[in-house]
Amino acid sequence: MSDSIFTRIINREIPSEIVYEDDSVIAIRDIQPQAPVHLLVIPKCPDYRDVVDLATGDAELMAHMVAVAGQLANEHANGDFRLIFNSGEDAGQTVFHVHAHVLAGGLEEGTLA
Ligand code: 5GP
Repeated sequence: MSDSIFTRIINREIPSEIVYEDDSVIAIRDIQPQAPVHLLVIPKCPDYRDVVDLATGDAELMAHMVAVAGQLANEHANGDFRLIFNSGEDAGQTVFHVHAHVLAGGLEEGTLA
């Protein structure tokens, strides 16, 4: 299977604005922001297609993603944030390499990524 767009970003084959990186995750600015702060926290491991896959396959990695989201919300906004995992096409998922949307910085009621 060909690499997802996020694997290509992780491998620096496609440019992006990286705001955080460690051994297991990367965080970038979404190319089409839906909020004043719209970041994506992405595991480097390409094995998990969606949040259910991740939660059942590596709960520790999922917990780490949530912790990173909280850290980024502190650094980029006032610490309050919305965390969204779109799971499946009908829910709006377009990239099938699990990722968390971190929305912050003044959210309008009903904002969804
Ligand atoms: P999904 O719809 O799968 O939940 O979220 C995918 C997100 O990835 C979308 O919000 C979309 O704007 C973002 N995205 C897609 N391609 C790129 C890209 O090349 N660079 C960045 N920074 N974001 C991207």
